[in-house]
Amino acid sequence: MKTCTVCGKEKPEGDYRLHSDKKTVMRYCNDCHLAKRRAQHSTKREERNAQFRARYAANVNGVKDKHAAARKAKYAKQGRAALIAWAAENPEKAAEANRKKMKRGRERLSDYYVRRLLCHPERSEVKQVPEILIECKRLQLMIERECREKR
Ligand SMILES: [Zn+2]
Repeated sequence: MKTCTVCGKEKPEGDYRLHSDKKTVMRYCNDCHLAKRRAQHSTKREERNAQFRARYAANVNGVKDKHAAARKAKYAKQGRAALIAWAAENPEKAAEANRKKMKRGRERLSDYYVRRLLCHPERSEVKQVPEILIECKRLQLMIERECREKR
């Protein structure tokens, strides 16, 4: 039996970790050790997340590409049903993500944005739109935007 220097409880040797030298037994018990590590982990949280965000934005080691590939693989495996289930569970997050996506699409006149103007994926009867129709609708939108600017 050994007394922990932090909580003061008497515990068997098995409840103590070894130091990095693999020989010396620590003076505080496993529970106190973990509590200390958890506290350190949560205080460093913001700093650590900022580092991860910076690395992601800079795409060092291709992290952004790696994550995009992982998302693509996950989507290929789980399909659209998993996304719909997630959206049902997190309506606010889903609405925010959709707003961002549609904003991007509106700016770039992306295929999915133009396709959605022609037929809504859930509400519309039409599921397939020919590529040429999307191209025509995109041109129409460009002309309309140009005219609005000139006015
Ligand atoms: Zn303890």
